[in-house]
Amino acid sequence: MSAENIFAVIAQGDLSEFKTLLANYKGTVNLFDENGMTALQHAAYKGNKDMVQLLLDRGADVNSGKHEYNYTALHFGALSGNSEVCKLLLDAGAKPTATNSVGRTASQMAAFVGNHHTVATINNYIPFKEISYYSIPQGQQTDPHLPSVLVEPLHKFVLGVNIHPVRLALNLQHTPALLENADKVSKVLDMLCKKEMTRGSDTNEVMAFKYHYLAYIIREINNIRDKQKPNSDKEEKKHDIVEVFAKKLLKPGKDGFSLDLMDTFLKDCVREFPYRECTTFHQMVTSLTSKDPPPALSVINCTINGQRGFVDAIPYCSTCGEEKPAKKCSKCKSVQYCDRECQRLHWFVHKKACNRESSSPAIMNAKPNIDAGELTTELQNLVAG
Ligand SMILES: [Zn+2]
Ligand SMILES: [Zn+2]
Repeated sequence: MSAENIFAVIAQGDLSEFKTLLANYKGTVNLFDENGMTALQHAAYKGNKDMVQLLLDRGADVNSGKHEYNYTALHFGALSGNSEVCKLLLDAGAKPTATNSVGRTASQMAAFVGNHHTVATINNYIPFKEISYYSIPQGQQTDPHLPSVLVEPLHKFVLGVNIHPVRLALNLQHTPALLENADKVSKVLDMLCKKEMTRGSDTNEVMAFKYHYLAYIIREINNIRDKQKPNSDKEEKKHDIVEVFAKKLLKPGKDGFSLDLMDTFLKDCVREFPYRECTTFHQMVTSLTSKDPPPALSVINCTINGQRGFVDAIPYCSTCGEEKPAKKCSKCKSVQYCDRECQRLHWFVHKKACNRESSSPAIMNAKPNIDAGELTTELQNLVAG
């Protein structure tokens, strides 16, 4: 088995052949092709999650590479637009701050080619240890701030890129332990927020705001939970919380479209951000108090996930804002949902409009099938120019 075979099989995307090859190959997987690219970089560029995982399992060095323009495996993952590949690379220690020869990070390159979900994935990434730190008693503490069983679900919750309040409520419903410990969880999020604001030159205002935002949502949902505690049985209750929350936020205003209650709720969240001197806070307030202000949800989304280009006409779930949802209302086919649960939560709004017809065409990003060398050269010219 030669090293060249590995590159060829990655290029073909033949997973079973790749597995066989790796099983019979005894050398290091930190190989370079004639352009200084590693096998991991090739797999990342192909957006092949399984191959990336197999190479990482075999000890592939995530930050290694001799690419002529200093692209890292994460740069290639970012260009592929496969967010899961990027997540694997980040989990393996890929440095999101590494720049290519024109000074761009992986996330900036992803933004450049329009891979917005990937941008959000990289920008929202925090290492597992940031959360697990709070599950270890510090100093005089006998009990940690966070029970250790909550570390994993909280990490996953924080990494989510869809910050629509209803999606967060649904996520919490699927991980009831977080909601049952809402006080502890929101306090840990407050501490994480403070930590991000007090890192000196590494201060991350956006991440700090995200922590504040998540804590705010959890507290609100917990308030609903508290109010419902007395006279409802357990199973019913879990369902009701999201429904009460969704009904409150998705209720249309007087014009029948704008979400006035959601807007008020989210503006209050911005207002309660404790770091009022920071740039991020000022930008949000400027936007929210402008003459024709955008909805608070889009202001918050832009802050956390970055500005989107206007070319994106991708469909959203009408309930929770998830991109490219799988289902449509079977009756009118004009609204889309993730699943039955999202449809159910939105029915009180949609039932009136259901017979009106409209359509929102899905424009998917066309994926260029060109070689990594060609693409990086082309991008270098574009970015530099
Ligand atoms: Zn949905
Ligand atoms: Zn309908």
